[in-house]
Amino acid sequence: MAVYWMVWDAAAAWVVDRLVSQGRLPAVAALREAGLRAQARPPAPNCQTPPSLATLFTGTSPERHGVTGFWVPAGGGCHPLSQTPAFTPGVCREPMVWDRLGEAGLRSAFVHVPWVFDGSGAVPGYVDAAVEMFSRRRARPGVFELPVRGARSVWQIAGHELVVEVLDPETVRVGPLTLCRAAGWQPLRLPDGVTPMVSLFEVQGRLRLAHTGAWQERCAGEDSSLVGALRAEGASIGEGLGAEYREGRLGNRMAEGGDGTAEAVFSSSLRCVSYSFARMTRTMIQGHRADLVVIYLPMTDEVGHELLGWCDETSEAYRPDLASRAWSMVADCYRQADDILASVLAKATPRDTVVLSADHGMAGVGATFYPNAALVRAGLAVPDEDPDAGADTSRSDVLYHRAGNGLLTVNRSDYPGGRVSSADAPRVLGRAIVVLGQVVHPRTGRPVLRAVVDVAGHPIDLESASEAYLVLDGEILPSPDVPEDLSIFGPPLRNAAHTINNGDPRLLATMAAAGPGLGRGGDLGVIDNAEVASLVLAQLASSAPAPSGRETKVGL
Ligand SMILES: [Zn+2]
Repeated sequence: MAVYWMVWDAAAAWVVDRLVSQGRLPAVAALREAGLRAQARPPAPNCQTPPSLATLFTGTSPERHGVTGFWVPAGGGCHPLSQTPAFTPGVCREPMVWDRLGEAGLRSAFVHVPWVFDGSGAVPGYVDAAVEMFSRRRARPGVFELPVRGARSVWQIAGHELVVEVLDPETVRVGPLTLCRAAGWQPLRLPDGVTPMVSLFEVQGRLRLAHTGAWQERCAGEDSSLVGALRAEGASIGEGLGAEYREGRLGNRMAEGGDGTAEAVFSSSLRCVSYSFARMTRTMIQGHRADLVVIYLPMTDEVGHELLGWCDETSEAYRPDLASRAWSMVADCYRQADDILASVLAKATPRDTVVLSADHGMAGVGATFYPNAALVRAGLAVPDEDPDAGADTSRSDVLYHRAGNGLLTVNRSDYPGGRVSSADAPRVLGRAIVVLGQVVHPRTGRPVLRAVVDVAGHPIDLESASEAYLVLDGEILPSPDVPEDLSIFGPPLRNAAHTINNGDPRLLATMAAAGPGLGRGGDLGVIDNAEVASLVLAQLASSAPAPSGRETKVGL
């Protein structure tokens, strides 16, 4: 008896429900029919990926697990006004589901799941096999305009210098690889084993070469044959060309009058990601003996960030002229995830449980909001010399934290280099809240600030608090940056996002599970995403070995 727990990043309930109703996700439909379904509330105040995954995997809230954003203020013992990457080992304070299972003698295996490897690259003894690459990116994706025919240029990827030569309008030599346009994406094997994918495409009559990012995988665990099989797969692609697409390096987007080439190249880059995760998943499920197998897929998040706003008629980002083409690309990407789920369903027996989760959903973005610009205008903060660094932490009394996780914080004098006494901190915070509370979005005519809360989501005590999380109205995405002209609003930096959980139902994650005792066709409605951990533990409770005749219990 095993539990297969698949996590699709950012698979919003509204997206999955719509795709299932259109018949585009047969594996999800089959899983729902065989078991139960739900819409799962992500954590608040912040529902970026790390807090949302931490809630899913620990079954606890950010107040307990401590992962409050993609960057965690003061995490890992750094300055309170600085930040730590959330996936750093040790930042999550609560044990994961698999830690609890490990204590009860059960074994686990992982495909690209965070917080499994420790700081030295080792995994706990209960891990049969784990593969992970996201902590070791060797190169970001890139796009190059090609020289004229016959000319040579030098291209840098992952620290390697490669000679690029156009042989004819359809063929280019890149280092050791001869690449034809018709061939699509091809692996470019570099001397140190790092293998990005490269592809040739044309924008307005000019050839361009794109390469994906490159990552160095690590594999570890007690099951040496499975670890060896995963290692032999090698060369996974961790993300597509979303940033290059957004910034116009694949040619104009449809929204700027492009002919769809940029979207086609972006979509095809996501297929590279899907392909490598499909291979890794197949190797894992064929070879594993673990009780729990956790598989993470990233591409549903990337496609959503770039395209979902256009598809949602309730969003300010909605584009009726683009919606159907954008939706078919979203559907294409989700279908690749569905195919991987189908491979898991094919392997699972009636004694096994299959769980499909997402960490959070996704909602369109209408505008970017710069809280620090409003604080600078009010004389409460000073911009950093670097316009991308937010407010100057040595000269500001109160600032929107550069971690960008929703936290508004006073620069207290007990912080190194701080400015405001503890006695005065609540008054300064109160002034900042008044300033931000007066900001009205020019398009909606509504105040941007809906509430200020503590990390548990409770109203803050204005008599004693020196920090607060902002809960913002509608589709407003905050940024700690300070624009040079002190603009308080700017155009959306993303098409869709999931940063501050303001209760928007589009941020609900999808959830479905089938297995012994879960019934057939049930709909749980809206649940808390922290409850999924209990379901996984309950399904495995009877699997725990009972050494020396004692009963072993697995539970939260
Ligand atoms: Zn996510």
